[in-house]
Amino acid sequence: MRTRHVFTLMTGLMLGWAVSAAVGAAGGDDKTCEKSKACPKAGKLLKGIVHLTDNDVRFQTKDKKTIFVDPMSGPGDSLVVSLGKMKPDLILITHPHGDHLNLDVLKAYVKVNPEVIVAGPADAVRVAKEKGFDSMRTVEMNKAAKLAGVEFETVPAYFTEGDHHPKASGWAGYVLRVNGNRYYVTGDTGPTEEAAKLKADVIFPLLWGCGGNAEGAVKLAAISNASLIVPVHHGGSKDALVKLSAMLPKGLCRAVYLNGKLTQMPE
Ligand SMILES: [Zn+2]
Ligand SMILES: [Zn+2]
Repeated sequence: MRTRHVFTLMTGLMLGWAVSAAVGAAGGDDKTCEKSKACPKAGKLLKGIVHLTDNDVRFQTKDKKTIFVDPMSGPGDSLVVSLGKMKPDLILITHPHGDHLNLDVLKAYVKVNPEVIVAGPADAVRVAKEKGFDSMRTVEMNKAAKLAGVEFETVPAYFTEGDHHPKASGWAGYVLRVNGNRYYVTGDTGPTEEAAKLKADVIFPLLWGCGGNAEGAVKLAAISNASLIVPVHHGGSKDALVKLSAMLPKGLCRAVYLNGKLTQMPE
């Protein structure tokens, strides 16, 4: 298990190289993007969405519901405040590793919104309970669900190799239905048979650390039929992003968030 501190530190150290070009303002056509070109589709599909660090991806629906997956930054974080993403209606946790489940952060968001629904797989609920957070709801794997008015599906997240993320742990990825699109936040997983059965418009695969790599991210994008890939859990590693960029099929739209800003993928 890697700690969140490694990722946060790496992100902080390596953000200096961030490209500043904005990725496709909303609007434009839906033609697939070409290498080195901004992707109009990205701006449109990612409206109201932001990735911060690790697997911390935040969504806002047209009807103003706010959903966080694996939040690592608390409501007092200056970037969170500047993005206006401080008050969640729903928090989904993928698994209990320290770079995905941060109980201090969860408790802080419950203070901001006592009505927030926090949910995760049974193992995350168990770990949270052991550490004094007993209001997490359990989500079943491979199921469609609706919480806080938000529809989503759970997808088993695991690696077939190694013992850090075994299938038996029952950990999760999520496909969120937001504003008519399907967003797949994979969690820590390799390309699995379950991922091959789903259909996503946008995929947020892990890229680096916790078993993630470019090969896995490319495969996950291919088998989930996503038309836009936004790697997360990249630790700010430019090498990992450049490698991924070079391996992606030419017609596949790609973008990345660096320090909460949507940017073009480095090449
Ligand atoms: Zn993990
Ligand atoms: Zn992880």
